[in-house]
Amino acid sequence: MSDTIVAAATAPGRGGIAIVRVSGPDAPRIAASMLGSLPVPRVATHARFRDAASDASGDAAADAIDSGLALYFPAPHSYTGEHVLELQGHGGPVVVEALIRAVLALGARRAQPGEFTQRAYLNGKLDLAQAEAVADLIDAASDAAARAARRSLDGDFSRRVLALGEALAELRALVEAGIDFADEAIEALSTESLQARLGAIAAQLQALRAASRQGRLLTEGMTVVIAGRPNAGKSSLLNRLAGHDAAIVTATPGTTRDLLRERIVLDGMPLQVLDTAGLRTASDEIEAEGIRRARGAMARADRILFVIDAAADPDATGYLEERALLPAGVPVTLLFNKIDLAARREGDGAARTASPAGDCARATGAAGPVTAELPSLWLSALTGEGFDELATHLKACMGFEGGGSGALSARARHLEALAQVADRVAGAARLLATREAPELVAEELRRAQQALGDIVGAQSPDELLGRIFARFCIGK
Ligand code: GDP
Repeated sequence: MSDTIVAAATAPGRGGIAIVRVSGPDAPRIAASMLGSLPVPRVATHARFRDAASDASGDAAADAIDSGLALYFPAPHSYTGEHVLELQGHGGPVVVEALIRAVLALGARRAQPGEFTQRAYLNGKLDLAQAEAVADLIDAASDAAARAARRSLDGDFSRRVLALGEALAELRALVEAGIDFADEAIEALSTESLQARLGAIAAQLQALRAASRQGRLLTEGMTVVIAGRPNAGKSSLLNRLAGHDAAIVTATPGTTRDLLRERIVLDGMPLQVLDTAGLRTASDEIEAEGIRRARGAMARADRILFVIDAAADPDATGYLEERALLPAGVPVTLLFNKIDLAARREGDGAARTASPAGDCARATGAAGPVTAELPSLWLSALTGEGFDELATHLKACMGFEGGGSGALSARARHLEALAQVADRVAGAARLLATREAPELVAEELRRAQQALGDIVGAQSPDELLGRIFARFCIGK
């Protein structure tokens, strides 16, 4: 039997109303002690909230911490599936803390982050993917992200995962039946029929992965690093992207000493932008630290935007000199900045031919300067020219479809599991085509089912649960 937990369910700080939520077997007793009697289930009841533990005088009015609405939800008809008491009081931090302390004095303990939702999961009120969608909905940075989280919370994602799981289970049963009735010509067990079923599963899986990828972009977005020589216009670029003065812009080289993080939303896709101290040689220790951090951030980024002063360095020698310092494997887009100063000349060499905004990986090995192998865009951080193309480019590079209609909020964890399922399904298809070893086909299908089960939490180990719910805020 679990214990009773308490936390503020509303955000800290001052507000019109603050809600303190209690969940667990002691909730009815705590309600009766603090309110004088147990409220009628699910009926908003006006009451005084008393500090029952220190109530020696028996004078209810004297000991009232606050008065407000009390709501009691008996198990199992509550968010957590346990007895839940909600006290809606005046929204001030002192009142909230006093209410929590009064509940603690009656035997409850403070909730861990996400513990209410964890209990909802453990009591079968939500599956794991839905519980994660709760956190995604709270964290949503855009309307599209909130809609995707809502769809997953409503169970759209889980239903599609479960439907796939059922299709896999059915197919596996047929494959196993084929082993038992190998000598008989049963149409449903023929290799062709099994292949058709597997093909349908693969198509379903592909659609689910696409919707989940969009969802992941909506919640997690992409991380880009702005790199380039001092004075190329990195801070100005960040400011224009962010829409306000996030970084100090001056005409003196080397003023951006630290790594700046800016979270912006680009037509619904969150974008984490890092402005770095650049890659120049450090002249002091603070700068050396900035450079060390810049390298670390770049190695983990989805893309590097290398800014070039198109007026001062039209041949991108800055990039050529510094590219050896950039982490291998992170794709680079060249941004020729300050086009308001450098009139772009037509037919001026391959290095100065802008690539289509949606072109994320130019063909390598092309003749001409190395910069011609990279996608390049022309823009002006001063006037804003070229920024629409930059937005299109970034979204295209991430495979982001505007608005994210049909997207399902998903985590990296879900995408990894779906990728595993896809591997297993592909493995099963290969084995099936050989018309040998149906046992191995069945085994691949079993493992695909298992990976799917992890998404909704059919058999998730405790450690995984701990990690998922630790990401929640306290009180949820
Ligand atoms: P950083 O050192 O790379 O971060 O460069 P800054 O963003 O601090 O810019 C250096 C200087 O170039 C500042 O004086 C900016 O106002 C100027 N600058 C940046 N972008 C542009 C641009 O597109 N056009 C013009 N004319 N000046 C720019």
